[in-house]
Amino acid sequence: MAEEFFSNLKCRECGRLYPKKAIHVCEFDFGPLEAAYDYDKIKDAISRKKIESRPQSMWRYRELFPIDEDPTVGLQVGFTPLVKADRLAKALGVKELYVKNDAVNYPTLSFKDRVVSVALSRAKELGFETVACASTGNLANSVAANAASAGLPSYVLIPADLEQGKVLNSLVYGTHVIGIHGPYDQVNRLCSEIAGKYGWGFVNVNLRPYYAEGSKSMGFEIIEQMGWQIPAHTVVPMASGSLLTKIHKAYQEAVKVGLVEESKFFVHGAQATGCGPISEAHKNGSDLIKPVQKPDTIAKSLAIGTPADGYYAVRVMRETEGSAEAATDQEIIDAIKLLSETEGIFAETAGGVTLACAQKLIASGKLPKNEPIVLCITGNGLKTAEAVADHIGAPRCINPSLKEFDAMLSTSGELVNSN
Ligand SMILES: [Zn+2]
Repeated sequence: MAEEFFSNLKCRECGRLYPKKAIHVCEFDFGPLEAAYDYDKIKDAISRKKIESRPQSMWRYRELFPIDEDPTVGLQVGFTPLVKADRLAKALGVKELYVKNDAVNYPTLSFKDRVVSVALSRAKELGFETVACASTGNLANSVAANAASAGLPSYVLIPADLEQGKVLNSLVYGTHVIGIHGPYDQVNRLCSEIAGKYGWGFVNVNLRPYYAEGSKSMGFEIIEQMGWQIPAHTVVPMASGSLLTKIHKAYQEAVKVGLVEESKFFVHGAQATGCGPISEAHKNGSDLIKPVQKPDTIAKSLAIGTPADGYYAVRVMRETEGSAEAATDQEIIDAIKLLSETEGIFAETAGGVTLACAQKLIASGKLPKNEPIVLCITGNGLKTAEAVADHIGAPRCINPSLKEFDAMLSTSGELVNSN
């Protein structure tokens, strides 16, 4: 891959250009740096046909990711199913509904594999020998697994009191897991200090401009799987707000490089009421994200009190005339069950947030019933099973006897037909 499509890093605030190094903030105004591309060159280099002929992974859109050579990490990541969810659509009273199902993303069952495969491919190009991240769950799992398969030593920093299941999901890959005591907000500063002193590539700190671009793949895939169309409505869960802004960027880029016709689309954001600073700001018609000091929600993967991209997420929702909603714990649990029972898809709590918020947006008329809607499901329910464990009942137990089976069915009134 000699051709250079990825040209620079660029400040999102002042537009100053920076070299493609492991840096993430502008020296002048501390604005976040973002990857910039030569779209004319990309337009000449790709086509729908060319993309369709490539392997079914996120890397079929490789010209639109910030790496110089061919990718080296996460080659199987992405191209998860876009499920036409007719039974769920019926339950919600809408005409055309799709679920983008990253609960089955490879290899660690969340959308984080997308961002990590770009971050680690770029980390190798930049010469990093050790990679790391700070995370409360999905990201740690993904860095641990993808680093293992790339043969890179990795360190993941997690809260010292994190649930055992999530810790296990990182430890098993042989990564170094470091528990941090005290307020997790201070972990980011520690990460910057470690990156500076030891020269490590932190995927969500000094490699953040590369990492964040990986989320665009979800947007490109939705467009292709919709038959090369941008869906009228996309509902996206928000933690830092980055995924929402990157899906928006993907839709815009697909138009720019000639993959899809320009069309009107709305991007909607979903959060939990126990930590919904971005939804709150959007609802109040404000750009100001008021930090949440003590997040209180079962949707822990979305519980970021000071969301780094919150301001930009609000801007995207406003520009596209989308809306924002927030869901309570009970609504999240009910939505997880509804998605499971109608479509056979068991989503993590963040997925419950997306569906619950979509239900509220449909009820308020902000999601019209007769236009295509895509729900972004970002992670697998097996990772947050404890959130629903007490709400789904328990098996009924009998001895291995037909008589007992008959008795059980007739007592519960399930017996319809027997002889
Ligand atoms: Zn700047």
